[in-house]
Amino acid sequence: MSASPCIRGFSGSAPPAPAFSAMIPNTRATTNSRVTRLPGRGCDGGGRGQEANTRIAALLLAGGLSIAAVACSGGGAPASPSPGTQATQPDEVYGLLSVLAADSMMGRATGEPGALKAATVIAREMQRAGLEAAGDSGWFQRVPVAIVSRTVNRNGQQQTIERIGLLQDFASLDTIPAARRRRAVNVVGVLKGGDPQLAGEYILIDAHYDHVGVRANPAGGDSIFNGADDDASGVVAVLEIAKAMARGPAPRRTLVFAATTGEEVGLLGTNWYIQHPVIPLDRMAANLEIEMIGRPDSLAGGPGRAWLTGYERSTMGDMLASNGIPIVPDRRPDQRFFQRSDNIAFARMSIPAHTLSSFNLHSDYHRPGDEVEKTDPRHMASVIDAAIRAVRLLADGPKPEWKPRGRPCRPGEEPERDNCS
Ligand SMILES: [Zn+2]
Repeated sequence: MSASPCIRGFSGSAPPAPAFSAMIPNTRATTNSRVTRLPGRGCDGGGRGQEANTRIAALLLAGGLSIAAVACSGGGAPASPSPGTQATQPDEVYGLLSVLAADSMMGRATGEPGALKAATVIAREMQRAGLEAAGDSGWFQRVPVAIVSRTVNRNGQQQTIERIGLLQDFASLDTIPAARRRRAVNVVGVLKGGDPQLAGEYILIDAHYDHVGVRANPAGGDSIFNGADDDASGVVAVLEIAKAMARGPAPRRTLVFAATTGEEVGLLGTNWYIQHPVIPLDRMAANLEIEMIGRPDSLAGGPGRAWLTGYERSTMGDMLASNGIPIVPDRRPDQRFFQRSDNIAFARMSIPAHTLSSFNLHSDYHRPGDEVEKTDPRHMASVIDAAIRAVRLLADGPKPEWKPRGRPCRPGEEPERDNCS
């Protein structure tokens, strides 16, 4: 794929001139610098383009990055959508994505310093959005993790592997040698509902910010798995939805926004949240997760469109689609995406929980090539706009319900008897 983002669906003309470029020092051996080119408005001084530059420069600094240059490229006809056609700004989306998927985040592996740096950036954005901190330590919900030994069966042989795992509680950390303890956090913020009848219920909007870190690359070259699409793109969506909802009229139901850790290593952050919810789980009306919206999916209808995992299982998908939101059923049920992300943990608690995505099975999945340059920020901004409308409906409209046999069965349950599947 091209090194610059593919811009489609707006002007139909040539890709726009970049609004600015930011050169970020790169820790990768194969390249010395990365040029982040953002599509968007021109650089004629004032207006949102200028604001975005200043903002993203601040963000980059917040993320612990030093900026060699943040400069307008100038020239060229801006091909951004005209005001009003898109509320979410592609340049802001791309700027935030560039920070979360920068090499300095070292692939955001759970328990590693790069992930904590990403968590700090996310917390700052939640604060800027105007949310209330809802962790046990400010914005952070601490998650007790450590390197633990597990015996697994590989090719018929019992093997002991070492991997990061969730502990029962923080007291258990005391039983673990200091060198094996790790630090991990979920980042959680709340926007209180404004309707006295419904504010006691809440919608959880979440995405996982961890990825798989730095790994040996047998092919040589890049060893940092940046996870721009998986799932920095979802985190950007959560933050943009938070900003939009906080700017608009108060939602009727309360909204909880979470960036979770440990998804890639067994839903650790979500499992901890389930044991320690910031609001009791029996008051969670629905969960909308966002995973991998960085690139368009032709099976979903192309740029600006996304699919919902387990669409047919509850009334959520129909509710969104019938209100004109460009969300379609998952066209690849054989991939079992409904079961493959954080939403499944909530669904198994009987909460209607789905994931919004436009993952097109690209070959950079869990590879070093999942880079920000390969994302399409206009597509992302459009999907985020759709997600904002979806969250508004979930916040203010009827509560989604499982359809007959739509709820996933828990261990020991039987489909016929327990109305699950
Ligand atoms: Zn993911």
